[in-house]
Amino acid sequence: MNSNRSIRVLVVDDEVFVRDVTARALVALGCPTPLLASNGAEALELVQSQRSSIDLVISDLLMPDMDGVELVRHLAEQPEAFSILFMSGANSSLRRAAESLGRAYGLRVLGALSKPIDRTALGRVLEEVILEPSPEGQRDAIKIDAKELERGVKDKEFVYHYQPKLRLTDRRLESVEALARWQHPRYGLVPPGQFIGLAENSPFLGRITEQLVEIGIRQLADWHKRGIKISMAMNLSPSILSDVSLPDRLSKAVTEAGLAPNLITFEITETGVAEREAIYLEIITRLQMKGFSLSIDDFGTGQSSLQKLEALPFTELKIDRQFVHGLHANDAKRAIFEASLDLAKRFKLKTVAEGVELPADLEIVRKAGCDLVQGYIIEKPLAPTAFEAWAISRV
Ligand code: C2E
Ligand code: CA
Ligand code: CA
Repeated sequence: MNSNRSIRVLVVDDEVFVRDVTARALVALGCPTPLLASNGAEALELVQSQRSSIDLVISDLLMPDMDGVELVRHLAEQPEAFSILFMSGANSSLRRAAESLGRAYGLRVLGALSKPIDRTALGRVLEEVILEPSPEGQRDAIKIDAKELERGVKDKEFVYHYQPKLRLTDRRLESVEALARWQHPRYGLVPPGQFIGLAENSPFLGRITEQLVEIGIRQLADWHKRGIKISMAMNLSPSILSDVSLPDRLSKAVTEAGLAPNLITFEITETGVAEREAIYLEIITRLQMKGFSLSIDDFGTGQSSLQKLEALPFTELKIDRQFVHGLHANDAKRAIFEASLDLAKRFKLKTVAEGVELPADLEIVRKAGCDLVQGYIIEKPLAPTAFEAWAISRV
């Protein structure tokens, strides 16, 4: 029971009585000082001010201003991973909806208990809470090696989050970029920076890419069936572009899903391919022949940008965030940005500014005639259901 000491709990309920009973049960179970909130807004404030010090949120489902379902969505948007337990007097269909929503958002849903909460049942739930590593210890605590990667592949733990790309002329949602995440049973949602590099140097990159691309294709087909008619960009590591059978397999998968290949863009960075130039060129060309769109990712960061533009059948150019963020106040960035845009137009490439966060930058990007914008100023990458809700709310 002493392990409960380190579990930090936030209780959200609009009724004082319920908060009291739950807090007392928690204290009795060894959780020293539970945090209390009387509504969703207060809960979010606490979560944001306590950054990564909360492990478990116990929340009511029906509350006056923000219900438990909406709170779940906001919690899922936080960078930290939470476990969540619902308290409900509410009917079981609402309970089930909230539980599956929470899971779809990537939260660890530990179930629902009826109110007032039963101490023994709560004790059992606490045993299931998995502690997040503390921020200082995080780097060391996340220990991912090739063996762990292999397990993740076997258990199919890789998922996509989706970030919108908007057309600048009319703010229409044109596309999404699919960004890999590892839904890890111990570490929560692991960002790609923590595993893509390792994957690229492991024998598992092919399988991870395959699993992810399949997820993306299925998701896009599903969205199209339900009227969300957008296109999707997926990232391909340059090191995957040595398998000549890849274009055929991708094309088959897309056709089987009933999608037109031109709805899919592959974003490819220009670094690290010089040594296998010929085969890379062949694969890129074949992808283009199959009807896929191809985007040069992180433009401006590689060595041979200009040469590639001329030699390869790319259809889009993504100007790297380092030349975008803060360009309104930096003449050098602005010059590079505008020159890249100009170059792209001469080669008839669609242009995307990535990493736009500031209104002043957005204004310049728009005036310069860039086609698409992507960045936190529009929305950050979202879990599938959150993205869906976002997309639907726009139309
Ligand atoms: P990227 O392709 O350049 O993706 C854009 C990254 O910028 C994403 O980070 C996104 O969350 C972040 N971002 C978007 N808007 C903003 C903004 O306004 N401000 C800031 N500061 N950041 C923003 P994420 O998801 O962590 O991905 C990092 C990188 O990991 C990606 O960079 C991409 O190179 C790689 N990656 C992601 N998914 C995959 C994948 O499925 N396969 C491969 N090979 N690489 C992937
Ligand atoms: Ca990308
Ligand atoms: Ca980039």
